[in-house]
Amino acid sequence: MVDLKSQYLQIKNAVDIGIQEVIDQTSFIKGPAVQRFQEELENYLGVKHVIACANGTDALQIAMMSLGLKPGDEVITASFTYVATAEVIALLGLKPVLVEVNPNTFLIDPLSIEAAITPQTKAIVPVHLFGQCADMEAILDIANRYNLFVIEDTAQAIGASYTFSDGTVKKAGCMGNIGCTSFFPSKNLGCFGDGGAIYTDDNVLAQKIRMIANHGQSIQYHHDIIGINSRLDTLQAAILRAKLPHLDDYNTKRNEAAAYYDRVFGDIKELKIPTRAAKTNHVFHQYTLQLSKSLNREDLRKYLAEKGIPTMVYYPLPLHKQKAYIDNRYPEGHFPITEELCERVLSLPMHTELSQEQLEYICNHVLGYINK
Ligand SMILES: *Cc1c(COP(=O)(O)O)cnc(C)c1O
Repeated sequence: MVDLKSQYLQIKNAVDIGIQEVIDQTSFIKGPAVQRFQEELENYLGVKHVIACANGTDALQIAMMSLGLKPGDEVITASFTYVATAEVIALLGLKPVLVEVNPNTFLIDPLSIEAAITPQTKAIVPVHLFGQCADMEAILDIANRYNLFVIEDTAQAIGASYTFSDGTVKKAGCMGNIGCTSFFPSKNLGCFGDGGAIYTDDNVLAQKIRMIANHGQSIQYHHDIIGINSRLDTLQAAILRAKLPHLDDYNTKRNEAAAYYDRVFGDIKELKIPTRAAKTNHVFHQYTLQLSKSLNREDLRKYLAEKGIPTMVYYPLPLHKQKAYIDNRYPEGHFPITEELCERVLSLPMHTELSQEQLEYICNHVLGYINK
Protein backbone atom coordinates (compact mmCIF):
# COMPACT_ATOMS: atom_id res chain seq x y z
CA MET A 1 0.00 0.00 0.00
CA VAL A 2 2.97 2.30 0.64
CA ASP A 3 6.64 2.29 -0.40
CA LEU A 4 8.54 3.84 2.47
CA LYS A 5 11.90 2.41 1.40
CA SER A 6 12.00 4.20 -1.97
CA GLN A 7 10.79 7.40 -0.35
CA TYR A 8 13.60 7.19 2.22
CA LEU A 9 16.25 6.58 -0.44
CA GLN A 10 15.33 9.89 -2.13
CA ILE A 11 16.16 11.88 1.02
CA LYS A 12 18.56 9.42 2.64
CA ASN A 13 21.32 11.96 3.08
CA ALA A 14 19.25 14.52 4.97
CA VAL A 15 17.60 11.85 7.12
CA ASP A 16 20.88 10.09 7.97
CA ILE A 17 22.60 13.35 8.90
CA GLY A 18 19.67 14.29 11.14
CA ILE A 19 19.68 10.92 12.89
CA GLN A 20 23.46 10.91 13.35
CA GLU A 21 23.32 14.39 14.87
CA VAL A 22 20.83 13.26 17.50
CA ILE A 23 23.05 10.28 18.34
CA ASP A 24 26.17 12.44 18.51
CA GLN A 25 24.40 14.84 20.87
CA THR A 26 22.70 11.95 22.75
CA SER A 27 19.74 14.31 22.92
CA PHE A 28 17.18 11.52 22.70
CA ILE A 29 14.48 13.15 24.82
CA LYS A 30 13.38 16.74 24.20
CA GLY A 31 16.43 17.43 22.04
CA PRO A 32 16.79 20.55 19.90
CA ALA A 33 15.31 18.85 16.81
CA VAL A 34 11.91 18.61 18.56
CA GLN A 35 11.75 22.35 19.17
CA ARG A 36 12.94 23.10 15.63
CA PHE A 37 10.47 20.73 14.06
CA GLN A 38 7.63 22.31 16.05
CA GLU A 39 8.63 25.76 14.78
CA GLU A 40 8.98 24.57 11.20
CA LEU A 41 5.58 22.93 11.29
CA GLU A 42 4.07 26.09 12.85
CA ASN A 43 5.45 28.07 9.89
CA TYR A 44 4.23 25.56 7.35
CA LEU A 45 0.73 25.44 8.81
CA GLY A 46 0.43 29.08 9.74
CA VAL A 47 -0.57 28.21 13.29
CA LYS A 48 0.76 29.73 16.52
CA HIS A 49 1.53 26.57 18.45
CA VAL A 50 2.51 23.05 17.48
CA ILE A 51 3.07 20.73 20.42
CA ALA A 52 4.62 17.41 19.43
CA CYS A 53 3.59 14.25 21.25
CA ALA A 54 3.97 10.49 21.06
CA ASN A 55 1.24 9.59 18.54
CA GLY A 56 -2.02 10.76 17.03
CA THR A 57 -4.19 8.98 19.58
CA ASP A 58 -2.38 10.77 22.42
CA ALA A 59 -2.83 14.04 20.52
CA LEU A 60 -6.59 13.53 20.57
CA GLN A 61 -6.57 12.50 24.22
CA ILE A 62 -4.45 15.45 25.33
CA ALA A 63 -6.62 17.83 23.30
CA MET A 64 -9.72 16.53 24.99
CA MET A 65 -8.11 16.67 28.46
CA SER A 66 -7.12 20.30 27.90
CA LEU A 67 -10.71 21.46 27.39
CA GLY A 68 -11.83 20.68 30.92
CA LEU A 69 -14.66 18.37 29.86
CA LYS A 70 -16.51 16.48 32.61
CA PRO A 71 -17.49 12.80 32.66
CA GLY A 72 -20.80 12.41 30.82
CA ASP A 73 -20.22 15.41 28.54
CA GLU A 74 -21.13 14.52 24.99
CA VAL A 75 -18.65 14.70 22.13
CA ILE A 76 -19.92 14.34 18.58
CA THR A 77 -17.84 12.56 15.98
CA ALA A 78 -18.23 10.59 12.75
CA SER A 79 -19.58 7.06 12.67
CA PHE A 80 -17.17 6.25 9.82
CA THR A 81 -13.64 6.79 11.13
CA TYR A 82 -10.63 5.08 12.66
CA VAL A 83 -11.32 3.86 16.19
CA ALA A 84 -8.89 6.28 17.88
CA THR A 85 -11.28 9.19 17.50
CA ALA A 86 -14.03 7.55 19.55
CA GLU A 87 -11.63 5.61 21.78
CA VAL A 88 -10.18 8.63 23.56
CA ILE A 89 -13.66 10.09 24.12
CA ALA A 90 -14.76 6.86 25.81
CA LEU A 91 -11.47 6.49 27.68
CA LEU A 92 -11.92 9.88 29.35
CA GLY A 93 -15.42 8.99 30.53
CA LEU A 94 -17.01 11.28 27.98
CA LYS A 95 -19.91 10.13 25.87
CA PRO A 96 -19.19 9.54 22.18
CA VAL A 97 -22.13 10.63 20.04
CA LEU A 98 -21.82 9.25 16.52
CA VAL A 99 -23.27 10.87 13.43
CA GLU A 100 -23.52 9.88 9.78
CA VAL A 101 -21.16 10.80 6.98
CA ASN A 102 -21.79 11.99 3.46
CA PRO A 103 -22.07 8.92 1.18
CA ASN A 104 -19.99 10.55 -1.57
CA THR A 105 -17.17 12.26 0.33
CA PHE A 106 -17.05 9.98 3.41
CA LEU A 107 -16.92 13.16 5.54
CA ILE A 108 -18.98 13.94 8.66
CA ASP A 109 -22.33 15.46 7.77
CA PRO A 110 -22.97 18.91 9.34
CA LEU A 111 -26.77 18.51 9.32
CA SER A 112 -26.44 15.28 11.29
CA ILE A 113 -24.12 17.04 13.73
CA GLU A 114 -26.67 19.74 14.44
CA ALA A 115 -29.44 17.17 14.85
CA ALA A 116 -27.37 15.31 17.47
CA ILE A 117 -26.74 18.30 19.75
CA THR A 118 -28.20 18.13 23.27
CA PRO A 119 -27.65 20.35 26.35
CA GLN A 120 -24.81 17.93 27.31
CA THR A 121 -22.91 18.40 24.03
CA LYS A 122 -19.55 20.08 24.60
CA ALA A 123 -17.43 19.37 21.55
CA ILE A 124 -17.36 18.24 17.93
CA VAL A 125 -14.54 16.16 16.46
CA PRO A 126 -14.68 16.37 12.66
CA VAL A 127 -12.41 13.84 10.96
CA HIS A 128 -10.71 14.91 7.73
CA LEU A 129 -11.02 11.38 6.42
CA PHE A 130 -8.82 10.02 3.62
CA GLY A 131 -7.21 13.41 3.01
CA GLN A 132 -9.82 16.09 2.49
CA CYS A 133 -11.30 18.53 4.96
CA ALA A 134 -14.75 18.14 6.45
CA ASP A 135 -17.11 21.05 5.78
CA MET A 136 -15.48 23.28 8.39
CA GLU A 137 -17.40 26.44 7.51
CA ALA A 138 -20.70 24.73 8.39
CA ILE A 139 -19.19 22.95 11.40
CA LEU A 140 -17.65 26.12 12.87
CA ASP A 141 -20.95 27.92 12.36
CA ILE A 142 -22.74 25.22 14.35
CA ALA A 143 -20.02 25.29 17.02
CA ASN A 144 -20.42 29.07 17.34
CA ARG A 145 -24.17 28.94 17.62
CA TYR A 146 -24.14 26.20 20.28
CA ASN A 147 -20.91 27.27 21.98
CA LEU A 148 -19.04 24.02 21.35
CA PHE A 149 -15.34 23.22 21.08
CA VAL A 150 -14.04 21.88 17.77
CA ILE A 151 -11.14 19.40 17.75
CA GLU A 152 -10.08 18.49 14.22
CA ASP A 153 -8.77 14.97 13.68
CA THR A 154 -6.38 15.70 10.85
CA ALA A 155 -4.30 12.52 11.11
CA GLN A 156 -5.08 11.75 7.46
CA ALA A 157 -5.03 15.26 6.03
CA ILE A 158 -1.80 17.02 6.95
CA GLY A 159 -1.10 19.59 4.24
CA ALA A 160 -4.68 19.80 2.98
CA SER A 161 -6.28 23.21 2.97
CA TYR A 162 -9.78 24.62 3.08
CA THR A 163 -11.13 27.80 1.52
CA PHE A 164 -13.88 29.68 3.36
CA SER A 165 -16.50 31.61 1.40
CA ASP A 166 -14.80 34.92 2.26
CA GLY A 167 -11.68 33.64 0.53
CA THR A 168 -9.68 32.84 3.69
CA VAL A 169 -7.57 29.74 3.24
CA LYS A 170 -6.62 27.60 6.24
CA LYS A 171 -4.70 24.39 6.60
CA ALA A 172 -6.38 21.28 7.93
CA GLY A 173 -6.18 21.26 11.73
CA CYS A 174 -5.90 25.04 12.02
CA MET A 175 -9.57 25.97 11.90
CA GLY A 176 -11.12 24.66 15.11
CA ASN A 177 -9.88 25.20 18.68
CA ILE A 178 -7.38 22.36 18.40
CA GLY A 179 -6.02 20.17 15.58
CA CYS A 180 -4.56 16.70 16.12
CA THR A 181 -2.32 14.81 13.75
CA SER A 182 -0.29 11.62 13.52
CA PHE A 183 3.15 10.90 12.08
CA PHE A 184 2.57 7.14 11.89
CA PRO A 185 4.91 5.91 9.10
CA SER A 186 2.21 5.52 6.45
CA LYS A 187 0.57 8.91 7.07
CA ASN A 188 1.23 11.68 4.53
CA LEU A 189 4.01 13.01 6.77
CA GLY A 190 5.27 9.87 8.47
CA CYS A 191 8.24 9.29 10.76
CA PHE A 192 10.07 5.99 11.36
CA GLY A 193 7.99 4.96 14.34
CA ASP A 194 5.23 6.68 16.27
CA GLY A 195 4.68 10.41 16.51
CA GLY A 196 1.93 13.00 16.70
CA ALA A 197 1.21 16.67 17.23
CA ILE A 198 -1.39 19.06 18.52
CA TYR A 199 -1.98 22.47 16.95
CA THR A 200 -3.68 25.53 18.40
CA ASP A 201 -3.75 29.31 18.01
CA ASP A 202 -4.86 29.71 21.64
CA ASN A 203 -1.99 30.67 23.98
CA VAL A 204 -3.76 29.51 27.13
CA LEU A 205 -4.74 26.16 25.64
CA ALA A 206 -1.22 25.70 24.27
CA GLN A 207 0.27 26.16 27.74
CA LYS A 208 -2.17 23.66 29.21
CA ILE A 209 -1.55 21.15 26.39
CA ARG A 210 2.22 21.37 26.97
CA MET A 211 1.69 20.69 30.67
CA ILE A 212 -0.67 17.76 30.11
CA ALA A 213 1.73 16.11 27.64
CA ASN A 214 4.46 16.48 30.28
CA HIS A 215 2.95 14.96 33.45
CA GLY A 216 0.95 18.10 34.22
CA GLN A 217 4.07 20.11 35.03
CA SER A 218 5.49 23.36 33.73
CA ILE A 219 8.19 23.44 36.42
CA GLN A 220 9.98 20.12 36.84
CA TYR A 221 8.57 17.99 39.68
CA HIS A 222 5.72 20.46 40.29
CA HIS A 223 2.53 18.85 39.03
CA ASP A 224 -0.37 21.31 38.86
CA ILE A 225 -2.77 19.16 36.88
CA ILE A 226 -3.04 15.47 36.05
CA GLY A 227 -1.19 14.78 32.85
CA ILE A 228 0.31 11.97 30.85
CA ASN A 229 3.74 11.22 29.40
CA SER A 230 3.62 11.84 25.68
CA ARG A 231 6.71 13.00 23.80
CA LEU A 232 7.95 12.90 20.23
CA ASP A 233 11.38 11.19 20.23
CA THR A 234 14.17 13.50 19.09
CA LEU A 235 15.14 10.90 16.46
CA GLN A 236 11.65 11.06 15.01
CA ALA A 237 11.72 14.86 15.05
CA ALA A 238 15.00 14.80 13.10
CA ILE A 239 13.43 12.51 10.50
CA LEU A 240 10.33 14.69 10.27
CA ARG A 241 12.52 17.79 9.80
CA ALA A 242 14.08 16.13 6.77
CA LYS A 243 10.68 15.18 5.35
CA LEU A 244 8.59 18.30 6.04
CA PRO A 245 10.14 20.33 3.16
CA HIS A 246 8.89 17.59 0.80
CA LEU A 247 5.34 17.37 2.14
CA ASP A 248 3.72 19.51 -0.57
CA ASP A 249 5.60 17.57 -3.22
CA TYR A 250 4.49 14.29 -1.62
CA ASN A 251 0.89 15.46 -1.68
CA THR A 252 1.23 16.48 -5.34
CA LYS A 253 2.52 13.01 -6.19
CA ARG A 254 -0.44 11.44 -4.41
CA ASN A 255 -2.75 13.68 -6.46
CA GLU A 256 -1.04 12.60 -9.68
CA ALA A 257 -1.59 8.94 -8.82
CA ALA A 258 -5.23 9.72 -7.91
CA ALA A 259 -5.73 11.52 -11.24
CA TYR A 260 -4.41 8.45 -13.05
CA TYR A 261 -6.83 6.15 -11.21
CA ASP A 262 -9.65 8.64 -11.88
CA ARG A 263 -8.96 8.66 -15.63
CA VAL A 264 -9.02 4.89 -15.85
CA PHE A 265 -11.91 4.18 -13.48
CA GLY A 266 -14.06 7.29 -14.04
CA ASP A 267 -16.27 5.67 -16.68
CA ILE A 268 -16.41 2.16 -15.25
CA LYS A 269 -19.93 1.64 -13.99
CA GLU A 270 -18.93 -0.97 -11.39
CA LEU A 271 -16.62 1.54 -9.68
CA LYS A 272 -17.30 4.90 -8.08
CA ILE A 273 -14.23 7.07 -7.88
CA PRO A 274 -13.74 9.26 -4.79
CA THR A 275 -15.82 12.45 -4.85
CA ARG A 276 -13.97 15.72 -4.27
CA ALA A 277 -15.65 17.68 -1.50
CA ALA A 278 -16.31 21.40 -1.96
CA LYS A 279 -13.95 24.06 -0.58
CA THR A 280 -11.13 21.62 0.23
CA ASN A 281 -8.28 20.18 -1.71
CA HIS A 282 -7.45 16.50 -1.37
CA VAL A 283 -4.14 15.07 -0.19
CA PHE A 284 -5.21 11.46 -0.86
CA HIS A 285 -4.10 9.74 2.27
CA GLN A 286 -6.24 6.99 0.76
CA TYR A 287 -7.65 6.49 -2.71
CA THR A 288 -10.93 4.79 -1.92
CA LEU A 289 -13.30 3.34 -4.49
CA GLN A 290 -16.88 2.32 -3.85
CA LEU A 291 -17.67 -0.98 -5.55
CA SER A 292 -21.06 -1.66 -7.06
CA LYS A 293 -23.11 -4.47 -5.57
CA SER A 294 -22.35 -6.63 -8.61
CA LEU A 295 -18.71 -6.95 -7.50
CA ASN A 296 -17.59 -9.30 -4.76
CA ARG A 297 -15.02 -7.30 -2.80
CA GLU A 298 -13.21 -10.20 -1.17
CA ASP A 299 -12.99 -12.01 -4.49
CA LEU A 300 -11.55 -8.92 -6.19
CA ARG A 301 -9.06 -8.45 -3.36
CA LYS A 302 -7.95 -12.05 -3.66
CA TYR A 303 -7.59 -11.72 -7.43
CA LEU A 304 -5.46 -8.60 -7.04
CA ALA A 305 -3.40 -10.09 -4.21
CA GLU A 306 -2.49 -12.99 -6.52
CA LYS A 307 -1.05 -10.43 -8.95
CA GLY A 308 0.93 -8.86 -6.12
CA ILE A 309 -1.40 -5.88 -5.70
CA PRO A 310 -2.28 -5.05 -2.09
CA THR A 311 -5.63 -3.47 -1.25
CA MET A 312 -7.18 -2.47 2.06
CA VAL A 313 -10.64 -1.96 3.44
CA TYR A 314 -10.83 1.23 5.51
CA TYR A 315 -12.95 0.39 7.45
CA PRO A 316 -14.63 -3.03 7.42
CA LEU A 317 -16.66 -2.62 10.61
CA PRO A 318 -18.26 0.66 11.72
CA LEU A 319 -17.70 1.89 15.27
CA HIS A 320 -21.24 1.13 16.40
CA LYS A 321 -20.81 -2.53 15.43
CA GLN A 322 -17.46 -2.93 17.21
CA LYS A 323 -17.67 -5.14 20.29
CA ALA A 324 -16.15 -2.49 22.55
CA TYR A 325 -18.57 0.19 21.36
CA ILE A 326 -21.85 -1.69 21.15
CA ASP A 327 -24.45 0.74 22.49
CA ASN A 328 -28.21 0.40 22.57
CA ARG A 329 -28.49 3.96 21.22
CA TYR A 330 -27.07 2.62 17.96
CA PRO A 331 -28.60 -0.72 16.93
CA GLU A 332 -27.62 -2.35 13.66
CA GLY A 333 -29.06 -0.34 10.78
CA HIS A 334 -28.87 2.95 12.70
CA PHE A 335 -26.21 4.37 10.36
CA PRO A 336 -27.21 3.00 6.96
CA ILE A 337 -24.72 5.10 4.97
CA THR A 338 -21.78 4.12 7.15
CA GLU A 339 -22.84 0.46 7.16
CA GLU A 340 -23.14 0.47 3.38
CA LEU A 341 -19.74 2.15 2.97
CA CYS A 342 -18.09 -0.44 5.20
CA GLU A 343 -19.33 -3.10 2.80
CA ARG A 344 -18.45 -1.32 -0.45
CA VAL A 345 -15.20 0.62 0.02
CA LEU A 346 -11.85 -0.53 -1.31
CA SER A 347 -8.61 1.42 -1.02
CA LEU A 348 -5.92 0.97 -3.67
CA PRO A 349 -2.17 1.42 -3.24
CA MET A 350 -1.54 5.15 -2.71
CA HIS A 351 1.82 6.70 -1.98
CA THR A 352 4.49 9.03 -3.27
CA GLU A 353 6.52 6.52 -5.27
CA LEU A 354 3.91 5.00 -7.59
CA SER A 355 5.34 4.84 -11.11
CA GLN A 356 3.30 5.01 -14.32
CA GLU A 357 4.10 1.31 -14.85
CA GLN A 358 2.83 0.38 -11.42
CA LEU A 359 -0.35 2.42 -11.86
CA GLU A 360 -0.93 0.85 -15.24
CA TYR A 361 -0.36 -2.63 -13.81
CA ILE A 362 -2.80 -2.03 -10.96
CA CYS A 363 -5.46 -0.52 -13.21
CA ASN A 364 -5.15 -3.23 -15.86
CA HIS A 365 -5.71 -5.95 -13.30
CA VAL A 366 -8.68 -4.18 -11.69
CA LEU A 367 -10.24 -3.83 -15.15
CA GLY A 368 -9.21 -7.39 -15.98
CA TYR A 369 -11.19 -8.63 -13.01
CA ILE A 370 -14.28 -6.59 -13.92
CA ASN A 371 -14.21 -7.72 -17.57
CA LYS A 372 -13.42 -11.34 -16.89
C1 LIG B 1 -3.91 7.33 12.29
C2 LIG B 1 -5.11 7.94 12.86
C3 LIG B 1 -5.22 8.28 14.23
C4 LIG B 1 -4.24 7.84 15.27
O1 LIG B 1 -2.93 8.08 15.06
P1 LIG B 1 -1.82 7.16 15.77
O2 LIG B 1 -0.57 7.94 15.57
O3 LIG B 1 -1.81 5.84 15.08
O4 LIG B 1 -2.17 7.04 17.21
C5 LIG B 1 -6.34 8.97 14.63
N1 LIG B 1 -7.33 9.29 13.79
C6 LIG B 1 -7.28 8.96 12.48
C7 LIG B 1 -8.40 9.37 11.59
C8 LIG B 1 -6.19 8.27 11.98
O5 LIG B 1 -6.15 7.93 10.68
